This record gives sequence, C-alpha cells and structure tokens, in this order.
Amino acid sequence: MKILVINAGSSSLKYQLIDMADESVILKGLCERITFKNGKLTQKTFDGRETVIEQDMPTHKEAMQLVLEAMLDKEKGALSSVDEIGAVGHRVLHSGEDFKNSVVIDDEVIRICEKNAELGPLHMPGNIACIKSCREVMKGVPMVAVFDTTFHSTMPPKAYMYGIPYEVYDKYKIRKYGFHGTSHKFVSEEVGKMLGNKNARMIICHLGNGSSISAVKDGKCVDTSMGFTPLEGLVMGTRSGDIDPAAVDYMRVKLGLKPDEVVDYLNKKCGVMGISGLSSDLRDLTAAMNDGNERAKLALEMLAYRVKKYVGSYLAVLNGADAIVFTGGIGENSPLIRGLVMSGMSYCGAVLDEKKNQTRGETYINTEDSAVKIIVCPTNEELSIARETKALTAAK
Ligand code: AMP
Repeated sequence: MKILVINAGSSSLKYQLIDMADESVILKGLCERITFKNGKLTQKTFDGRETVIEQDMPTHKEAMQLVLEAMLDKEKGALSSVDEIGAVGHRVLHSGEDFKNSVVIDDEVIRICEKNAELGPLHMPGNIACIKSCREVMKGVPMVAVFDTTFHSTMPPKAYMYGIPYEVYDKYKIRKYGFHGTSHKFVSEEVGKMLGNKNARMIICHLGNGSSISAVKDGKCVDTSMGFTPLEGLVMGTRSGDIDPAAVDYMRVKLGLKPDEVVDYLNKKCGVMGISGLSSDLRDLTAAMNDGNERAKLALEMLAYRVKKYVGSYLAVLNGADAIVFTGGIGENSPLIRGLVMSGMSYCGAVLDEKKNQTRGETYINTEDSAVKIIVCPTNEELSIARETKALTAAK
C-alpha cells in the first residue's frame, strides 16, 4: 500500500512515496527547471541513497518519466514495478466552488480544474499539466486531486463573502476561498486526537513563508485568513497581507506600476521582506533584530501583531477556544513569534509557559492553570494528501 504524493508547480515538481502501512516516507524528490534548460532531478531514499539526474524536461511528461526512472532504479530507487504504486495524490491549488472534498480524478474533474485555472493562474496550469502527464505515464493507477481550498469549503457565506455586489460574487465567484487547507486539516485532526475531543474549538496558526490562520469547530473550518488568493490576511515573508485597496491603487500610481504588476508586487516585494529591506527569512530577521536592526524588529513585531489580531477575532467567532495551535516553519520553530503572539492573552484564559515555549520539541507550551491549551503541532501536508488519497481509493 504505497502512495505517491505529487506537488507540481509550473516549473518544479516535488514528490514523496509513502508507505501507508506505517505512514513512513520511502523516498522524496524534486524536479527543477521543468520547461527550461538545465533540468535537474534530485531524490533521496529513507536510508540515505541519493540520486541526481541532470536532464532537460521540456514538459511535465518528461519530468514524470524521470521520476519513475529514479524511483525504479535498482540501486538508488525503492520500487521494482510501477504496479507497487497503489494510487497517486496530486496537490491542486484551487477547487473553485465545484468541489467540497478531495476527488478521484477523471476527465470531468480535469475539465472542471481547467475551467477554474483562471482562479489560480500561477499554480493551476502546472497542477493540471502534471495530472495529465501522470495519467499518460502511469496508466491505470488511480489518481486523486487534493485541493488546498476544500477544507475551508465549510465556511458560512457570512465569512466567505466580500462586501461587494452579490451579482458580482455570483457571476465571477469572487469570494474568500482560503488556502493551506491540507495543513489546517492535518493539524486540526492531530490536535483533535491529542485532546481526545474532535469537537474542540481550535485556532490554527500556520506560520511559514506563506501564513494563514483558521478557526475550526467540530473539525470544520468556520473562517480563515487567506482570501480569494493567498495574498489576504497575515503579514507574510514577501506578501503584504491585508491592505486598504485604495492604498494599493495610490501606490500603483506613485510607483508607476502597470495594472498587471501590482498584485505581483504585493506578492513578492512586500511582507517582512519589504518592511525590513533585508530578508523574508525569520532566522535572518531574528539575528538582525538581535544585532540592533530596528526595521527587522518592526517587521517581526508587525508579523506577530497581525497574528494576534486574527487570533482575537477568531476567539470572538468561536466564543473562546480550547486550543491555540502553532504550526509551519515559524510556528514550529520560533519561540520569539509565539511569545509575541501569546503575550497579554490572559483575557481569554490562554497563558504561555515561557520556559516550555523556549524548549524545542515541547507540545503543550501553556501553563498548568491555562484554560486554553497552547500547542505546537508539526504539520505534514504530504501525509495529509496521502491519507486523503488512501481514503478515496482504498489503495492496496
Ligand atoms: P515554511 O514555509 O513552513 O517552510 O517556513 C519557512 C519559515 O520558517 C522561514 O521564515 C524560516 O526562517 C522559518 N524557520 C524555519 N526554521 C526556523 C527556526 N529554527 N527558527 C526560526 N524560524 C525558522
């Protein structure tokens, strides 16, 4: 019972082969520079055998053929036949309003994904190209689309609607969708198991290079910070997060940006990178702040402050919380950001134990008498995709 998980971008393709018997990773790899010159595949097995293949991959089909070749290699691979792969789980950015759950891929699913490609123009073409290629080179193997958005499909209209004319929403489907769904789902399920309470009220803070928060009740998302695209919400590595649209237009004029450059600017040049003028990486910013850099300090304070405001609003939405959960590269590894977010939150009964917060590997970082559990829970998006894929295909 082995499942291949694929996360394809327009020019890259990450993959993991997972043994569902014990949910262990058999191997993982990456194809880079698909469609460009100087393509490269790197792969590493669980026991440390490494493969590097430098070969151009004009399309995702050649990339998938190379992935199979690397996985089947007698010395450095881990498969003796493609038949050992029970199913393939594809990460797909956007479900639009068409899917509420993961789905087994057929021609109709691909048609709907193609219709929705304009909702995620940077990612969807790569996702779809890879699905099609995979079906060609792995004929007969069941495939599942696991969307970044569907975990959030349980949001009520009052949470996902923007304050725009209803007809505009209805005609163009302009609304909040939310992203990082595989992570929010995985973490909320893990925390549900830890607490022995599937119906707990949770605020999940996925803080990484891209960041989002969701409010979860009874295992379902009721609100989330990312929106129509992943640009809305928190101050991120290079994304601005929430900003007055009128300020965006004013900035466009002042900076002389073309209309199609504005969103790219907000996605790639802003966030803690733009504020600090230094780096989008939390480790660099933390080091710079410790050296006395004021703008690095401001960037970190802004990041944490925006998280704190969202946590506060979701406490209001959920009528309190049973758990506030930190995950993602920053959430799992930065006591500084967790400390800034959780400072002065006793109003809701959440009290951080600073010693536990500083201890690597600690799961519960709240004080004994804190009414709200504060939890560090590592995310695992690939395993989340593999579990969904298994559930839908019952792969053997
Ligand atoms: P992700 O997108 O989830 O991989 O998270 C990437 C972010 O996590 C980057 O900003 C990293 O600087 C941050 N990060 C990773 N490890 C650490 C660490 N040990 N301390 C602070 N931040 C970290």
